[in-house]
This record gives sequence, C-alpha cells and structure tokens, in this order.
Amino acid sequence: VPQIYADILESDAMIPNTLSINKRGALSIGRSVVIDGHSNCLARIVTHAHSDHISDLNASISRCRSIMATPLTIDWLTELGYSLPTYKVRKLDYGERVEVENLELLFMKTLHIPGSLQVAVNDYESGLRIVYTSDFKKPGRETPIIESDILVVDAVYGSPSYVREFDDYIDQILADFVKQLLTSGPVFIYGYHGKLQEVMQILRSEGVLAPYILPSKVYRLTKIAEGYGLRVNDYLLAESDEGREVIQSNWFIYFEHVNSSKAVRSNKATHLILSGWEFKKPYRRLGRRYWLVAFSDHADFNGLLTYVINSNPKVVVVNSARSTHADVFAKEVEKRTGINSIVMP
Ligand SMILES: [Zn+2]
Repeated sequence: VPQIYADILESDAMIPNTLSINKRGALSIGRSVVIDGHSNCLARIVTHAHSDHISDLNASISRCRSIMATPLTIDWLTELGYSLPTYKVRKLDYGERVEVENLELLFMKTLHIPGSLQVAVNDYESGLRIVYTSDFKKPGRETPIIESDILVVDAVYGSPSYVREFDDYIDQILADFVKQLLTSGPVFIYGYHGKLQEVMQILRSEGVLAPYILPSKVYRLTKIAEGYGLRVNDYLLAESDEGREVIQSNWFIYFEHVNSSKAVRSNKATHLILSGWEFKKPYRRLGRRYWLVAFSDHADFNGLLTYVINSNPKVVVVNSARSTHADVFAKEVEKRTGINSIVMP
C-alpha cells in the first residue's frame, strides 16, 4: 500500500479515488475537471493568473475541451501571452454553477488578486462536496468560507510561526507610510502582477491622491482590471507625454513588477518592496531609501486555520506542491481541530 493510501486508511478519511493531486499542484477529479495544473480532463479551471496556478496551461489549451476562468483572468492570460481559442473559453461569474459530467461546480470569489476564485465541487457519485480554496486572504470577511466534506488548501504559510499580528491594519499602515513618504519625493512600489493592482485600489480607498505612473505591462493589466471594476483613478502610462510630465513634478507613485529593474531614475524617490515573507514588523529598512513592506495577498497561518475551522470538513487535504511546511500544517490542523488531515501528493 503506498504511503498516501495508508495515511488515508489510517485517518479513516473519505477521499474518493477519483481525487488526485500531481507534483505540479494540479487537482483532478476523475477525468472531468482539473484545477490549476494540467491532466487530461474535459475542463481546466484557472483560479487566477498567478504563475504557480497557470502551470502547463498550454497543454490544457490543446488537450482539454474547455478552459474556465473569470472574464478578468481570461483577459489577463491573453495579455500575458496565452492564446485561448474562443470556442474553448468558458467565462465564469461569481456564484455561477456549471455541470461537468457528474460534477456540479460552484465558483465563488476570493480576496487575493483581481479575478480570483475558489471552487466547490459537488460530486453526485460520492455525495461529497470538495472545496479548493486556491489563494485567499481575509477568510469570512472578504473571502467567503464554503462548507465542505473535503477541503483542499495550499498552505502557503503552513507553520504556526508565519503569523503577521498587524495583518488587519496593514492597508492603513501602508497608506499612511506612503502619504508620509510622498511629502519628500516620489514613491516606487514593487510587487507581483495582481498584488500591484490590489495595492493601487487600497491606497485610493485610504485617501492617497498622488497620480500613479505605470510601465506598459502594468498599465495594460490595470486597464483590463479597471474594466471589471477595479477602482484606480488617475493613472498614466510612464512612456506617455502626460506620464513624463508628471514624473518631472516629483509627486507620483510608480508601480513596477518586482523582477523588473527598469524603473525610472529619481534621486529623491523612496522604494518599497512588497513581500509577504516578513512577520515581525509592518515595514523594515533595507537601505537609505529602500524599505520592505510586509504586505501579503495570502492569509497567514491563523487565516488558513480560520478557513479550515469554519468550512468544517471531514478531512483536510494539504496540497504540498504550493505549500510551505505542508506536513506541519496538517499536523497542526489535527492537533488544534481534531479534523483528519493528509498531505498530497
Ligand atoms: Zn496567487
């Protein structure tokens, strides 16, 4: 008996043999659906456009019958260079139900990046509801918690030490910090696609008024997200005449992908790098005009546990492909909640 099945037998869990997770994190249910990775299934679901959730997408585009995602995610994938044949694309609204063979799929919003969703699968054959949360934060507030029989989670912050006590206030803390820095010069903010757009909206809702300057890729992704309701206001393409004029004024916020080093030079500027891997303080100085801000688009350890407790599953499956300390998380869930937990793959 392979280890994984031994674990299941031991924990008396009710995992249907149709459920599997491969090494690259793809969650398959029979030959019907595969979520956030590829296997030869009828439908590939993309929960959001982050790179670790779109692995092997081209294989799915050629071998699955349909590609399902929110309209925003579909447009972002196209912008990121994927060519999705129109006849294969199935655009999903939050709250929508779709049937694929003997499964009923329900798609719900998550707070993570624009266009993110989570999936509940009602398996008529086994009578079980399988929920895959994908990435989320603020469970029970801006991410609805779905009740489940089997809950599949990516334990991004799987260890009890991964807790940010200031998480509930980070939006305000970040906005206040940016406001203060803007009095002495422009502010450059570096992060991943999606997280940048979330921060743009947060700063506006916290009353930050300075114009945003965006390089072309960030600009185009923002424009798409704005079309689906992201509130950004007053943003300009860095390479445009207007953009250059604002840059001269020295009162602006520049948003750049964290891996890009092409940002406009400005000697009065302060640079903020957004990172979820900081737990002690909301921000930490890295250099004279460089700061790291502990802004994450993921729930911390406590947030993950909150989802588990309120979803009230019979068994938790920790997807090790996208987890940190999956084993620790599974053990902590069992210890703290008494719910059977296994690690897959
Ligand atoms: Zn993500």
